[in-house]
Amino acid sequence: MWQVVGQNRAVSLLERSLERKVVAHAYLFVGPHHVGKMTLALNLAQALNCEATESPCGECLSCQKIASAKHADIQIIGLTTDGDSTEAKSRAEISIDQIRQMQHSASLPPFEGRYKVFIIDGAEQLSSEAANCLLKTLEEPVGKVIFILLTTNDKLLPATVISRCQRLELSPMAATEVEAALISHWDIEPQRAKLLARLSRGRLGWALSAALDDSLLQQRAEKMQGLLDIVNADYEERFTYAAELATQFSQKRESVQEVLTLWLDWWRDLLLVKIGCNEATTNVDLEDTLIDSARVYGLAQIRAFINSIQAAGEQLRQNANPQLVLEVLMLSMPKKEEGILVKYG
Ligand SMILES: [Zn+2]
Repeated sequence: MWQVVGQNRAVSLLERSLERKVVAHAYLFVGPHHVGKMTLALNLAQALNCEATESPCGECLSCQKIASAKHADIQIIGLTTDGDSTEAKSRAEISIDQIRQMQHSASLPPFEGRYKVFIIDGAEQLSSEAANCLLKTLEEPVGKVIFILLTTNDKLLPATVISRCQRLELSPMAATEVEAALISHWDIEPQRAKLLARLSRGRLGWALSAALDDSLLQQRAEKMQGLLDIVNADYEERFTYAAELATQFSQKRESVQEVLTLWLDWWRDLLLVKIGCNEATTNVDLEDTLIDSARVYGLAQIRAFINSIQAAGEQLRQNANPQLVLEVLMLSMPKKEEGILVKYG
C-alpha cells in the first residue's frame, strides 16, 4: 500500500497510470518541505519494482530494499553534504558531474529490479550546466528508466526541463487531517498530536520529525521565548535584537524568515483569541499566555503589526537592507500597557 498520507489526488493519478501501464518517463513533484515528496517518490519506485500483485506491497524483498535505501536500481541524487560548512551548503549546487554519473548508470540495464528510478532531490539546485545536461536525457527517454524530480519551487527550474516532466503538486494537509493521522497511524498522544499538527502547517513529515526528535520543539520554545522577551523590551533592546537578526540574515537567510513566521503565527493567534476563535490558534500549548497577551492590545494594533511582519518578510525577499527592515519592524511593534509582562508558558 501507498505510505504517503494525505496526498490522495497524486496517489490515485499514479495508480491509474500504473494500472494502464502508461507511466511517464519523468515526473516533477512540487510541494513544500516535509510534505511527502520523497515518500511518494520512493513509493512509486516500489510500485514499479514490487513483486506482489497489489503493488506497492511494502513487504516483498524489493519493497523492503527500497525502503531501506539498499536497492541497486534506485538512486537518490541531491546536494552532497560531506563536511561542508552551512554557508558553503547554502551556495552549493547539484553538479554536472553528478548528472553525468547518473546518465552513465541510466544507460546500463536494471540490476535487480524491473525499473531504474533516479530521484533528484532539490531539483531547483541543479546548476545550469547540470540542468542542460539532464535535459538531453529527458528528451531521449530510455525504456525502464524513470526520473523523479523533487522541488519546493519549480519556478527556479528551466521551463524546458519542466515541459519534459509530468508535474504533480503535493499540497499541505489540513491541520485536523495531520492530527488524525498522527493519532491513528503513529499512536501519538492526542494533546501532543494537536500541537504538532498545528505547528506543522499541514506538513506531516515535519510533524513526524518533531514527534521523534524533541529538540525541534525545544528550539521552537527557545525562539518563542526570545520573541516574547522582545515584546517586553524597550527600544534599545529591540534595536540590538534587530541588529542580531540582520547579522544572522547575512549568514542564513532562511532562519530569519523562520523567526518572522513564528512571529506571524503568534500575532495571528492573538487576533484569533481577540475575536473569540481560540480553537483555531497555532500555539495551542500557550493558550493562557495568548489570552493574557490579547487583553493588552487593540484589534487594530494587532492587525497593523501583522501587516508589518508580512511587509518585512516581503522586503527581505526582495533584498532590501535587512537591518533597516528589521529596525522598522521593531519600531512598528505596538506598545502594551505599562507593567504587563508577557511570559512563555
Ligand atoms: Zn512489494
